[in-house]
Amino acid sequence: MVDYHIHTDFSCDSQLMPEVICERAIELGLSEIAFTEHLDFDPIDEGYGYYNYKGISENLLELKSLYKGRLIIKKGVEVTYQREREDEIEKFLDDKDFDFVIGSVHLIGEIDVSGDKGTEKYFKEVERKKAIRSYFETTHNLVNSGIFDCLGHFEMLRRYALKYIKDYSYEEFKEPIDEILEAIAKKGMTLEVNTSGLRHLPEETYPRIEIVERFLELGGQNLTIGSDSHLPEHIGYRIPETMELLLNIGVKEITLFSKRKKEFKRMGKYQIGSRRL
Ligand SMILES: [Zn+2]
Ligand SMILES: [Zn+2]
Repeated sequence: MVDYHIHTDFSCDSQLMPEVICERAIELGLSEIAFTEHLDFDPIDEGYGYYNYKGISENLLELKSLYKGRLIIKKGVEVTYQREREDEIEKFLDDKDFDFVIGSVHLIGEIDVSGDKGTEKYFKEVERKKAIRSYFETTHNLVNSGIFDCLGHFEMLRRYALKYIKDYSYEEFKEPIDEILEAIAKKGMTLEVNTSGLRHLPEETYPRIEIVERFLELGGQNLTIGSDSHLPEHIGYRIPETMELLLNIGVKEITLFSKRKKEFKRMGKYQIGSRRL
C-alpha cells in the first residue's frame, strides 16, 4: 500500500513532522510514501515564499537513510498551477531532482477556490455553470501545459462549492470532463485518486469514482493514490477501501514514480490486506 500525497511541516498548512509520518506509515503497513509539499508562485497564495527546497532535500536524505529497508520515501511536490506562471514553474523545476510532480488547481484567476472564503466569493461573483466551466478550463490548461506528472485532486472545487451551489453531475459537464481525461490519457500523465474528499463535504474521492471509470474507458491507465494528509490521523486515509474499489472497476496497477519516471505496482488482494485506516 502506498500514499502519494502527504504534507509535512515543510508545507505552510501542515504541522506534521516528517518522522511522525514515517513512523505512522510503517505502523499502517505502507510500503512507500511521497512527501508533496506545496509550491506556490503567486504572492496572493498563503504558501508563497514558504517553500524550502534545500531544507526538504536535506531532511529527505536523512529520512531515507534512517528508514532504509523499512519505508520508501519519495521527493514529490504539489505545484499550484496558473497559466501565466507556466514559464516560472518550468524554470523552477528544471534543475531540481524531484521524483514526482503534482499539478493542482487551487486558484481560478486570482480567487483561491481551495479555501472556504475564496469559494464563497467565487460563487457570489460568477454564475454557477460559468464558474464550474472555468474550473475545468484551468484544469485543461494545466494538463495541456505538459509540465506535470500528475493531475492532483481533480474536482476538489466541490469541497467548498457544495456549501454554496447545487452539486453538478458528470453528465452535466461530460464534454469538458472528457476532454480533460482524454488529454491526460494521451499525454501518458497520471490522474490522482485523492481520498481527502471522503472526509470532506462531497464524501467522494477527488475525482469521484465514476470519473475514474470514464478515464479508463477513454484509454487512461495511470493512476496514483494519495490521502492529502495534513494531520497524523489522515495518513493512508481510507486508501485500502479505495484500492479495493479501483480493483473492482478494473484498475490493475497503481503508478509510482522515481526521478519523474513511471513505475508500476500491480494491485492484488495481498497488497490491500485486511487493515482498515
Ligand atoms: Zn492541493
Ligand atoms: Zn495537497
